[in-house]
Amino acid sequence: MAVITVKDKQFETYLSDEMIQSRIRELAAEINRDYAGTKPLFIAILNGSFMFAADLFKNLDIEAEICFIKLASYKGMKSTGKVVTSIGLEEDLFGKDVIIVEDIVDTGKTLHHFLPKLKHQQPRSLKIATLLHKKEATQYPLHPDYTGFEIPNKFVVGYGLDYDGLGRNLKEIYQLV
Ligand code: 5GP
Repeated sequence: MAVITVKDKQFETYLSDEMIQSRIRELAAEINRDYAGTKPLFIAILNGSFMFAADLFKNLDIEAEICFIKLASYKGMKSTGKVVTSIGLEEDLFGKDVIIVEDIVDTGKTLHHFLPKLKHQQPRSLKIATLLHKKEATQYPLHPDYTGFEIPNKFVVGYGLDYDGLGRNLKEIYQLV
């Protein structure tokens, strides 16, 4: 097992390149089946999902569109907590089959706050594809429709995911030692 250093912390290999790619092919096959005859719109959430989105998209053989957005959170006027807003979403979602592409669902907070905004546009369907899901960390009810791997509640880097901006270029996924 390889141990690497990213910035000032040590990480060990958790999911190999082959495991990730093989699981993505399985997810793509499922999506190809589920969305046959439709033309879904994938909305990939930057920055972390860029590699997963690209590899998933490459393995699709249905007609599909993709766009990339960023989420920004800020404190709302009320004391109810954070409000999540999106940057770069220009598509009209009305009547479309939408699939959100995330790198990791942790507490579920980000999507829990963001999904209502998308639903407001009345897509025909709205599903979530996430490469990783820390199920034990769930604080907000959220059930991804396509999950690559359920992982323990430990910090991970690589394959698009960063530690303080670094480590996104790694082909494998590493877990904090
Ligand atoms: P949530 O809102 O579900 O708690 O968190 C989702 C976001 O937190 C992810 O999109 C990701 O940016 C960040 N995140 C959560 N867990 C990890 C992790 O283990 N590693 C990295 N690099 N980011 C994480």
